[in-house]
Amino acid sequence: MNKSVELSIVVPAYNEGETIASVLADLKKELGGKLTHEIIVVNDGSTDNSREILETISHIKFINNKVNRGYGSSLKTGIENSKYDWILTFDADGSHPPHQILDLIKYCDEYELIVGARVGKQAYDTVLRKMGRRIVTKFAQYISRAEIPDINSGFRLFKKDLAKKFWHLFPERFSFSTTLTVASHVARYAVKYVPIETYKRRAGKSGIKPIRDMAGFLNIVTRLAIYFKPLKVFVPISMFFFISAILALLIGWFAFGGILDTTFAILIMAATQSLVFGFIAEMIVKRFY
Ligand code: UDP
Ligand code: MG
Repeated sequence: MNKSVELSIVVPAYNEGETIASVLADLKKELGGKLTHEIIVVNDGSTDNSREILETISHIKFINNKVNRGYGSSLKTGIENSKYDWILTFDADGSHPPHQILDLIKYCDEYELIVGARVGKQAYDTVLRKMGRRIVTKFAQYISRAEIPDINSGFRLFKKDLAKKFWHLFPERFSFSTTLTVASHVARYAVKYVPIETYKRRAGKSGIKPIRDMAGFLNIVTRLAIYFKPLKVFVPISMFFFISAILALLIGWFAFGGILDTTFAILIMAATQSLVFGFIAEMIVKRFY
């Protein structure tokens, strides 16, 4: 194991009163004496007794959000208040395996981002979420040309510097993990996936809501397209319009004996504009990496 690694563990918690104490106790038991670390718990405006419980636990750094701001926001707050160079994000619901933290740390010398990849049951998710994840993953793989076994696992270890590089890209809610994964691949950082076990959350319900999740999902796809590889998206769109324009030309000529000039003009304009938009976006994106 890499003994020189010093670790800030960030635990976001929203209404996890039933589990948080035991989850933190397990973490302490697992890491005590083995590793220089701190545990930062961000209470994300919980409406249950999480806050009261957390205030009595002495071995943590406790941060209280008065209102609920979302998973990504809590992580950012935690990271901003961390003192070490490596960050481990760890859920408060008991779904992550504390005994596998050391399995991730083994790779700190060679990699900047080490993701605990959920094998087998992917996080006990609903069918809708699994489908959404599959589509986002396919799309992200197309954009980054990388193999991505688990795009949004919340059990991950990364250099604080890496997260800071993409700081402005992180959204408030759930796509923090997806954004970090894709940004790291696109910018060609070394990413390692380590198989982990996951458990069903110990109590309560997931903070994910299907409708909001779906909107978030479209949001992620658009962000990925525009922020990372605009040409990979806008060139195909432009091609589509261009081919349609040619088809309109041919159909007009052979079926109606004339040119459908308005249709043709609009399609050619759309093709040109998509292409120009893609190039401008690409230029802006290039300045970031
Ligand atoms: N969480 C948070 N703010 C929120 C929703 C969730 O800090 O608005 C925390 C939650 O307490 C948990 C982690 O983020 O520790 C992951 O949330 P959840 O288990 O609900 O998501 P899932 O595992 O279903 O993706
Ligand atoms: Mg969970």
